[in-house]
Amino acid sequence: MLTPGQLPELLPEELETYAWQLDLPGFSEVAQRKLKAASVLVSRVGGVGGLVALQLAAAGVGRLILASGGVLQPSDLNRQLLQTHDHIGQPRIENILRRIQALNPRISLQGHPENISDTNAEQLVGQADIVVDAAPLFTERFALNRAAVRLRRPMVECAMYAWEARITTLTPPASGCLACLYPEAPPDWTRKFPVLGAVSGTVACLAATEVVKLITGTGAPLANTLLSMDLASMQFRRFSWKRNPLCAVCGTAS
Ligand SMILES: [Zn+2]
Repeated sequence: MLTPGQLPELLPEELETYAWQLDLPGFSEVAQRKLKAASVLVSRVGGVGGLVALQLAAAGVGRLILASGGVLQPSDLNRQLLQTHDHIGQPRIENILRRIQALNPRISLQGHPENISDTNAEQLVGQADIVVDAAPLFTERFALNRAAVRLRRPMVECAMYAWEARITTLTPPASGCLACLYPEAPPDWTRKFPVLGAVSGTVACLAATEVVKLITGTGAPLANTLLSMDLASMQFRRFSWKRNPLCAVCGTAS
């Protein structure tokens, strides 16, 4: 953690760009400088992670590390708002980098055209202060979780299915990790599931808010709390949960 004296200064054009958020309660120019100094890894930049990355870029997070593989499919376009119709068949990461940089040319972007796995997780997590898990597959989620626990990086965990969305913030050993919540992948989980872009975008904006709070020390992150949303009925519920001392991933972390 950098001291205020070590934080990067803001250029006049940056003060102008971020003027509408500098007056947020609990915010300040120091908070904005913390955002500028921060690095965030987003695992998958699709319907959820793409909007997380875009929001963090808009907020002025200084460095984004984005991991997302594959080429753009027509069926991506109902939710992957960084993509464009004319890019179908091209690597998704290209459009993501181009559009985020167009919004905020001052930030540093690092794109990886591959999804998180045990092969790359530790190397990518090690470059970030905070990680955001927005992957559709549990193998990716578990690989990111193991690396985040090993390297002691906070992880904002967000997921959605149909009309439902969930989010929590994992800061082991203070809180539990993803494996405390899900020791194993749900047996019936599949790659393709129902998604409405407005639902994936809802949890994305909440995740970006959590990241900004963690970086700036503003507000109260969802530590040890799972926020569960049913957007069909607009019911939002909070569940308290605790770390599993016998967890195979974080049980011996402290
Ligand atoms: Zn755990």
